[in-house]
Amino acid sequence: MPRILPIFAALLMTTAAGAAFAQSDYPNRPITIIVPHAAGGPTDTVSRLIAESMTRSLGETLVVENAGGAGSTVGAARAARAEPDGYTLMINHVAQASSGSLYRKLAFDPDADFDGVGLITDVPMTVVARKDFEPTDIASYIAWVKEHGDEVLYGHAGVGSASHLCGMLLMDALDVKMTTVPYKGTGPAMTDLLGGQIDTMCDQTTNTIPQMTSGAIKGYAVTTPERIEVLPDLPTLQEAGLEGFEMTVWHGMFAPAGTPPEILEKLSGALQVALQDPKVIERFAQLGTTPVPVEEATPAALDAHLAAEIAKWKSVVAKAGEFAD
Ligand code: ASP
Repeated sequence: MPRILPIFAALLMTTAAGAAFAQSDYPNRPITIIVPHAAGGPTDTVSRLIAESMTRSLGETLVVENAGGAGSTVGAARAARAEPDGYTLMINHVAQASSGSLYRKLAFDPDADFDGVGLITDVPMTVVARKDFEPTDIASYIAWVKEHGDEVLYGHAGVGSASHLCGMLLMDALDVKMTTVPYKGTGPAMTDLLGGQIDTMCDQTTNTIPQMTSGAIKGYAVTTPERIEVLPDLPTLQEAGLEGFEMTVWHGMFAPAGTPPEILEKLSGALQVALQDPKVIERFAQLGTTPVPVEEATPAALDAHLAAEIAKWKSVVAKAGEFAD
C-alpha cells in the first residue's frame, strides 16, 4: 500500500473528528437570526420571543437582525449567502414560498438555498384602519372601499409579503383597486397608519392586537374561517359575505443550505423547547396565535411544507398574472 494513503486517511479522520467536535461544541458563540422584515412588525415580534427562549435553552445569545425590504427578499438573499455553520439563521413566513413566483429576478433560490429547522406558528390576519377612518364596521368598510377605490391608501410590506397577499385577495374579493403603499415591513406601515398617512392594512394579529386593544387603530374583521378567542367581537370576512376568504401566515426557521444535520437537529430541539415555553405560549395567545405542534418544528416538516407552499403559490401567482422585478 503506498505510504500516502495512511497519511490521507489519518488526515481525513482528524478533519472528521475536528468537524464532529466543532458540532458537539455548538453553539459556542452568539447566533444571528436574520429577520427579513422591519423592526417592530409581526415577524420581528415572533422572532424575538423565539430568540429569547432559545437563548435560555442553548446557553448562547440569539441576536435578531432586521433586514427588511422587497417582501423579505433582501434579507433572505443575505441569509442564503451566509456561512452554513449554524451561526446565521433566518425566520421568515409565507413570503419564502411566494417570492420565487412573484419576483422575476431573485438573487437566491428560496428552496434550494435553505435547509429547514422547523415551523413555528400560523398567525391570523386582521383588516384594520386608522382610528378616524369613517366606516364603523366591516359592512360599511366594504361599502366605503368599493365607493372610494383608489383614493383609499392600503399599506403593505412589499410585493409577496403577507400583507400584500392579503390585500390582493381582499381587492380581488371586493373587485376593487386601492392604492398600495409598500414599506420595508408592517412595523413602519403601522407607524404611518397610527399617524394617518395611510388608511388601511390587512396585517397579522401579532402586530395589530396591541394597537386595536389600546384604541389606536380600528379593527374590522379577521381572515380566519372562525372568529378568534382574543378578538371575539371581530367578525370573520366570511361572515361579512366574502365567501371562502381565508388567510393565515405560517412562520418557519431556516438555515443556509449545507448546514450540518447535527446542527439542524440541535436547533430544532431548541425550537421545540421554545414552542413549549409557557412564556412563549402565553405571549403568543395574547397576540392571537399558538405554536405549531412540536412534531412540525422539525427540518423534515418545514422542508415538506415549503415545497407544498411553493407549488401552491406558483399556481396562484400564475393565475393572477402579477409579477415584480
Ligand atoms: N411579516 C411582515 C413584517 O414583519 C409583514 C408582512 O409580511 O406583511 O413586517
